[in-house]
Amino acid sequence: MLKRMIRKLRKQNSPPTPAGALPDPTLTPTQFRELILHVARTHEVELNCSSTFELIDEYAEMAAQGRNAANIMPQVNQHLEMCPDCREEYQTLLHILRTFELENGDELA
Ligand SMILES: [Zn+2]
Repeated sequence: MLKRMIRKLRKQNSPPTPAGALPDPTLTPTQFRELILHVARTHEVELNCSSTFELIDEYAEMAAQGRNAANIMPQVNQHLEMCPDCREEYQTLLHILRTFELENGDELA
């Protein structure tokens, strides 16, 4: 008797399932959409700030040399696109490297 009442209550409290909805009732269509968007943005390997920081000087050196750093180190590029802090760090580094290169002429090449 009690079980039946609980079941009935649960049925009443759960929102009606829209046509073509996903079989998993724990995700609303909005939640599912957000999940998909999140997965789409996520790459297999993501770098965090400290990992990026370790690679950022190498990355900036490549860019300063006119190499396609984004192609060579796509994970760093991806992190820089998403993280304003690291991007600022990278741009500062790049600026320093370029200034240094200009001052030293062809010695670095
Ligand atoms: Zn970062």
